[in-house]
Amino acid sequence: MEKIISTETKGWIKTKIVSLCTKLEKYILSNKTLKCKVVFGPVRSRRLGLVLGINNIKKKVCSYDCIYCPIGEKSCCSICTNNCLSPHELYFSVKNKIDEIKKSGKDIDYILFAGSGDPALDSNLSQEISILREFGYKIAVFTNSALLWNENIQENLMYADYVSLKVDTVNEETWLKINRPHQRLRYNLILSGIEQFSKRYKGKLTTETMLIKNINDNENEIDQLGKFLNTIKRNTSYFMTPIYPTIKSYAEGPDTETLLKLSELIKEKVSNSVMLCCPESEEFFATDDFENELLGLLEMHPVNEIAVKTFALANTKISKLNELIELKLIKQLEYNGKKYYALNELLQI
Ligand code: SF4
Repeated sequence: MEKIISTETKGWIKTKIVSLCTKLEKYILSNKTLKCKVVFGPVRSRRLGLVLGINNIKKKVCSYDCIYCPIGEKSCCSICTNNCLSPHELYFSVKNKIDEIKKSGKDIDYILFAGSGDPALDSNLSQEISILREFGYKIAVFTNSALLWNENIQENLMYADYVSLKVDTVNEETWLKINRPHQRLRYNLILSGIEQFSKRYKGKLTTETMLIKNINDNENEIDQLGKFLNTIKRNTSYFMTPIYPTIKSYAEGPDTETLLKLSELIKEKVSNSVMLCCPESEEFFATDDFENELLGLLEMHPVNEIAVKTFALANTKISKLNELIELKLIKQLEYNGKKYYALNELLQI
């Protein structure tokens, strides 16, 4: 015989579930999120506006080891799936952050998967994108393209509204010099994966190319790259130069004269191309958790000193900033005449 559950019992079960969820949420937020610093920002992206960043790959693990990487030497060059938080842990962390952002009167344009490694290494990426949709924001993924030969990775990326693919060159020799890939990767397979993905993907697809002095800043490179990019189905191809301190001091942007010539050449050879010449906006945002937000952002790249100091002064966080320096968790460094804060363990400039 079917048992009838009384309204009181139903109410009791509901209260228990809510209380368990709250405890779980508190546990997640007090432990893993802050240790891994997975959710960072909001930060201003040159292409997407104000974004909430997600860096769910374990620290310094990437399938590439680019000479211009602002994050530092990779502790592990990997092509295996590797994530920090489970989809549900990530959901609570993002929920918490979005609530804080809204409380502070701001809003974001995108949730962006990017980070100190390739977000495509995250085997739960499609699931994470699906559950984060609940918040009603568009979702972008910036990948280095290294795993695009793999159809499962292509499937995961299909869930995003915006995908940016790194294509610094189409020459294998140049690729080895600039991106220093994992030894099992093959560039011809990656390039055909990019072509294949561009035909299947329904969202906004863009590419990004980093121009490096004396390596890919010549006519032959741009000519061949243009031929490839013009055959793939994409919205825009962005070209840029390093704006943060790089891991290898020789990885500099082209000199001004070369850059002017290249800009003309790129316009001529690559349809829908944009040269991102201006630096990232120097805005720095943080909610109440200034320390973790700054450390989380520094996992990605050094941050302009003036931007951080201005924020810290305006929000009475200057003593916390000085404490991080005294504890040697962060340090100051100079690049192209500008001062930055970086994680102490990173770049040795
Ligand atoms: S620049 Fe990006 S793709 Fe290259 S090593 Fe750094 S994190 Fe990986």
